[in-house]
Amino acid sequence: MLSANKHALRLARHARNVSYTSSRAASTVVPQETDVVIVGGGPAGLALASALSSQPILRNTLKVSLVEASDLDKVRGWAPPSGTYSNRVSSITNASQAFLGEIGAWAHVEEGRTCPMEEIQVWDGLSDARVTFSMQDVLASHLPGMESLPQMARLTENLNLQRALLRHLDSTSAVELFDKVKVQSIQREEREGGGWPLVHLSDGRVLRARLLVGADGFNSPVRSYAGIQSYGWAYDTTAIAATMVHHPRTSFQTPNTTAYQRFLPTGPIAFLPLSPTASSLVWSTKPNLAKALLSSEPGVLASMINAAFRLPEVSLRYLHNLIVDSANTGSPLDAQQLREEISWRERSHSIDSRSAYSLAADTTGVPPVDADALPPLVTDIQPGSAASFPLRFNHADEYIGDGAGARTVLVGDAAHTIHPLAGQGLNMGLGDVEALFHCIQKAVHTGGDIGSRTALLPYARERYFENHKIMAACDKLHKLYSVTSEPIVWARSVGVEVLNELDSVKAALMLNAGSQSSRRGPSRTQLGASFAADGVESLARTMSGVRTLTEGVGNMVGAGVQRVLKGLSNSQRP
Ligand SMILES: Cc1cc2nc3c(=O)[nH]c(=O)nc-3n(C[C@H](O)[C@H](O)[C@H](O)COP(=O)(O)OP(=O)(O)OC[C@H]3O[C@@H](n4cnc5c(N)ncnc54)[C@H](O)[C@@H]3O)c2cc1C
Repeated sequence: MLSANKHALRLARHARNVSYTSSRAASTVVPQETDVVIVGGGPAGLALASALSSQPILRNTLKVSLVEASDLDKVRGWAPPSGTYSNRVSSITNASQAFLGEIGAWAHVEEGRTCPMEEIQVWDGLSDARVTFSMQDVLASHLPGMESLPQMARLTENLNLQRALLRHLDSTSAVELFDKVKVQSIQREEREGGGWPLVHLSDGRVLRARLLVGADGFNSPVRSYAGIQSYGWAYDTTAIAATMVHHPRTSFQTPNTTAYQRFLPTGPIAFLPLSPTASSLVWSTKPNLAKALLSSEPGVLASMINAAFRLPEVSLRYLHNLIVDSANTGSPLDAQQLREEISWRERSHSIDSRSAYSLAADTTGVPPVDADALPPLVTDIQPGSAASFPLRFNHADEYIGDGAGARTVLVGDAAHTIHPLAGQGLNMGLGDVEALFHCIQKAVHTGGDIGSRTALLPYARERYFENHKIMAACDKLHKLYSVTSEPIVWARSVGVEVLNELDSVKAALMLNAGSQSSRRGPSRTQLGASFAADGVESLARTMSGVRTLTEGVGNMVGAGVQRVLKGLSNSQRP
């Protein structure tokens, strides 16, 4: 519900838009009539355009246009040299992949460049408490609605997905693509009974939209036009993304299909497999460390990644300060100096040089017993692949516009921006697209108005709460693992280890990670997915309680897990 202040702000914003409309009223440009205008040719916008072009009835009924500021030919012509990978990689969940398959787009993905994720190992950087999620756990569990699947998710370069969506669109020729043009302004047509949005492009064209879709990312112009407020905050965290080069696993080990994530107090570091010798890095850390690492020689980043998965936190903290301080004094640490420092620290922690925890470990022959607990040692960073992204949380107050912002709807990052620790942002966007596609399809089949609030309300109802739960859970996990105070670290480790023992809870968490095969499966499967988010949220809430409550920590951990279990048993009642 909007407060009076927010409402006043909204009205003021609309007043600005409307007066801008009046000044443009003299324009002689005749608006182009369109049923759906999608602003944004990122993964969400292209997926919606693809879905709308996938069915003959929609192709024949709707005139759809997509506007993208960048050059889509660069995506079409994307042809990286063999063995190299883009640094923007997403774990596409089974549910997302199933939807992309249904609309015919997944067939255009170059599957040889994707990698199945068959196991996830997550551990606490301070206590070392570890959770392992694997498909074996899913298959062994008795959660209803579970199907046998070969993977938990598929790691896919964003460009591979976007190129596939474009190829699919090009094969149908059903959507008019305007690229290299920006949406310059959006006004509401002045017409009795409520005008439609008029979208002014930078090349002078104007599109009149029955339905205007904002798939235009975090700074969404459509969200501004619709007067939809959003709430959120910037994390004091930057994600370093890069393609890591490493030795292949030996024949004694499982193949490189395990994702690893260590939660450090400065943020989680994730290792996402792409091929036997390449994997993708998403390292969320303090902005000053990210800056210092990216300005150092690549060997420094490679060694620090290895150390970040292996060394005790106290040594990592020392190394972080060393790297930042030397960068600030203008004489950055070189890779050799860093390796010597790490080697000294390994000795001081009594890390055996034959153990997988040593950077000097032998990577050929019979691997050390602890080898599968850690990702392979990184030998290099693919040239030009390291980049940084500021992280933030943001959620729109509403997904559909109303009043002066009517006939607008938000999907993807325009509606929600989330910390990448659970790899959910793009998947949530694809979930939005799937739900909106079904609403539009239904309106067309029943002869309804696709831009009406009646047609769009089921979309908001289906997605808002679902997204909110995942966002809240991820935000809490981020905050929970940033804490270093001892009782909380202890409670956290007990909590994580308890979770590791509870197969059904783990399976529920994995549904959230995406191992379910469809978002539209039986209701019990959906219940499982909800409880997955509940599980993370409940654990996070339990842990944060440690700070404020005086009762025994053990009781609270127990209560948190009991709540998850109670939820699960309720979900299985007829
Ligand atoms: C480091 C990192 C790792 C991530 N890993 C994962 C993961 O593993 N799994 C996952 O699900 N998600 C992940 N995400 C999140 C995911 O990348 C985003 O959620 C997703 O890319 C958002 O897609 P989108 O299409 O909604 O928005 P965007 O990709 O932001 O696209 C918006 C588009 O709108 C266009 N646009 C904006 N304004 C205008 C205008 N005025 N006129 C014309 N065009 C305009 C832009 O040019 C852009 O192309 C990660 C994010 C980060 C930062």
